[in-house]
Amino acid sequence: MTATATRPCPRVLTGDRPTGPLHLGHYFGTLQNRVRLQREGADLFVVIADYQVLTDRDVADRLALYVQELVLDYLAVGLDPEHTVIFTHSAVPALHQLLLPFLGLVSVAELQRNPTVKDEIAHSRQVAVSGLMLTYPVHQAADILFCKAQLVPVGQDQLPHLEATRTIARRFNARFGKPGSPVFPEPQALLSQAPLLLGTDGGKMSKSRGNAIALGASEDETARLLRGAVTDADRRIAYDPVGRPEVSSLLTLAALCLGSDPQAVAEGIGDAGASRLKAVVTEAVNEYLRPVRARRAELAEDRGYLRDVLARGNARANEVAQATLAEVLEAMGMH
Ligand code: ATP
Ligand code: MG
Repeated sequence: MTATATRPCPRVLTGDRPTGPLHLGHYFGTLQNRVRLQREGADLFVVIADYQVLTDRDVADRLALYVQELVLDYLAVGLDPEHTVIFTHSAVPALHQLLLPFLGLVSVAELQRNPTVKDEIAHSRQVAVSGLMLTYPVHQAADILFCKAQLVPVGQDQLPHLEATRTIARRFNARFGKPGSPVFPEPQALLSQAPLLLGTDGGKMSKSRGNAIALGASEDETARLLRGAVTDADRRIAYDPVGRPEVSSLLTLAALCLGSDPQAVAEGIGDAGASRLKAVVTEAVNEYLRPVRARRAELAEDRGYLRDVLARGNARANEVAQATLAEVLEAMGMH
């Protein structure tokens, strides 16, 4: 279920895996909504999901570096640590303790049916599917519910996980809550206008699939990556998301950067072909990201500040997680 923010100050949780720097899919899929919600006064929590890196690989490469890169990306796009809690999974033990009761609320068949997990298994670097891969949507329910988030700005791939979280909240309340006073809210997903931006290979743009344009990429790198993007042989550029998904995703990207709409961008290009389309997209992206990249470069000079932002976020997330865990244990009759 998707919704727009209905309360003046909703509690919001969202996050990313530290598997690489954030890309344009993140920006238009979720970061922009996060910044807007922050501006509107939402109580925003952002998790850097370091434990979830190991869902699809044996070793978490360059973890410390990627965690810092994520903090940099967040601050560069406008998340403000005075208003937004940025924290890492591994620093908040009480959050993970919620996983145990939550696992008892879902069936193995439900876990195996999750379409996003199936897609990720198909792209996984592991020979066998781990228990972590199958259960991480339940872990994500703990991420969302530890702070009782009402709204979760995410991309389309997260909708099955949100549905799982809603189910877990409902079942927990029914099994352990007192009538009329639920322990957990049922959070809602908030999708953007670009809930599934495609990468340069025509699949979902993903940090881990070598098909992404990072927010912090240089202008030349952006041009090179876009030149290599998959398109099709039809010289007439038209917006047709079903018949021509790759061309249409590029048009969407240009339109988002230009504040235009994809049809208008297509008409401007006409029958000048894919190379013109790519040139238009490159210019639009580089122009749009210029201030973000400048700010990112500035912030990158002060690593101590980035560490301090995380330390403060971790401390606040721990307070909230401990309070929720106490409530959960009480509801379950354990304390
Ligand atoms: P990985 O390949 O390591 O899984 P990812 O690019 O899929 O990385 P995540 O950290 O898994 O990024 O996802 C973080 C958030 O960004 C989620 O809310 C997800 O829905 C959103 N998101 C990721 N990729 C896209 C995309 N291509 N379009 C729109 N939203 C996206
Ligand atoms: Mg992902």
